[in-house]
Amino acid sequence: MADERKLTSQTKDFSAWYNEVVVRAELADYAPVRGCMVVRPYGTALWENIQQALDRRFKETGHQNALFPLLIPMSFLQKEAQHVEGFSPELAVVTHGGGKKLEEPLVIRPTSETIIGHMYAKWIRSYRDLPVLINQWGNVLRWEMRTRLFLRTAEFYWQEGHTAHATLEEGQEETIRMLDVYADFAITDAALPVIKGRKSEAEKFAGADASYSIEAMMGNKWALQAGTSHNLGQNFAKAFDIQYLDQNNELQYCWTTSWGLSTRMVGAIIMAHGDDQGLRLPPNVAPYQVVVVPIWRKEQQKETVLEATRRIYAELAERFRVTVDKREGLTPGFKFNEWELRGVPLRIEIGPRDVENESVVLARRDVPGREGKTVVPMSGLIESVSDMLETIQADMLAAATAFRDANIHTPKDYQEFQEAAVSGWAKGYWCGDLACEAKVKEDTKATSRNIPLDQEDAGPGACIICGKPADEWAYWARAY
Ligand SMILES: [Zn+2]
Repeated sequence: MADERKLTSQTKDFSAWYNEVVVRAELADYAPVRGCMVVRPYGTALWENIQQALDRRFKETGHQNALFPLLIPMSFLQKEAQHVEGFSPELAVVTHGGGKKLEEPLVIRPTSETIIGHMYAKWIRSYRDLPVLINQWGNVLRWEMRTRLFLRTAEFYWQEGHTAHATLEEGQEETIRMLDVYADFAITDAALPVIKGRKSEAEKFAGADASYSIEAMMGNKWALQAGTSHNLGQNFAKAFDIQYLDQNNELQYCWTTSWGLSTRMVGAIIMAHGDDQGLRLPPNVAPYQVVVVPIWRKEQQKETVLEATRRIYAELAERFRVTVDKREGLTPGFKFNEWELRGVPLRIEIGPRDVENESVVLARRDVPGREGKTVVPMSGLIESVSDMLETIQADMLAAATAFRDANIHTPKDYQEFQEAAVSGWAKGYWCGDLACEAKVKEDTKATSRNIPLDQEDAGPGACIICGKPADEWAYWARAY
């Protein structure tokens, strides 16, 4: 039974709001092991819709799914120097099995480049075997000290794509292709107007030549990295001997990539769209796109209303993800609040007078109050609902885009920059120097989010931090 207390408001304490929404909307709960989460059925349904939307795109771009093991020999991680350095502090290590000490410790995968690299070395023989385009849906474990449901948990769910190519160019093309796939999903289905760009040297993946990300703005104006795609160059190919015979019968190292998107995306959707009433889910990924709430006051009205509700449900269920709230002993107001908290994009209210008029009330989650309500005839309801869901999806993207654009600042000098990077996102030329990035972090706690692929009208400029010449600009912000 839902809790009737009001949520903490976003402006009062965004972080408390987030934690309350996740738990009260029944997306996830805390596991008995610190840092782990239990994804409840409602959260799992949301994740499954995200999975399907991505999986379809992966297959359309020629990828296949496979499953690799959870346990990786410790020695595999040590083969790539940067990789082991980056992941060592986060490893969970299995030392005993079946009551005996293991000869070689096994790590629970923090990511699967090493074990997949090992297998690719076995499977790839000649140029005819390339490219190899494989994706895995699974879970990984990183021993995080400070955790938050969906945003940063020790164990999380994700997909990791791993590909091998004959040339540097093909590897780079794949890296950007998958970044585009993520951006297309985020914009089209999650209604998140993400920005595609390259990560700085300090922020890139351990073992990559270059990392790219999609960055989204949350409701408190912080940034969230919602997906990453890495060009691994020949680093893992050399560490794992992933080689092929080219057309001239000469042995060459492959060029590999990896790319991942995780249950953090759920956190991004919550924080980018939610309001003080709770979640607001984009129709394309919402577990329920429509909730039907039958309303009656007198017992003799009940059967008429329920009969109409059954008809509507049968009609809509063929096209949409629909649920009916027939629970007794709860007021309509209570039910409305609860479905608003859970972010269902469209509510259909149907009472005795609606049945008489052969109409229903549609109430949009993204437009509060009377303004979001319209009365539509029961005939042609499928079309009305379909149009309304499309409008909601488009309006949510438009609202998130307007919010993002209103909170991106272009400061004139470092003084303004420091304010901008805290109050929203700051756009600033950067010389690329690690020292400049470190200074920003120390002064503001903001980090470079990415160096956008679209540099708009960037020409030669001056680093906003040190004044040295710079020809690219980056986004800077506080980030999850
Ligand atoms: Zn600089």
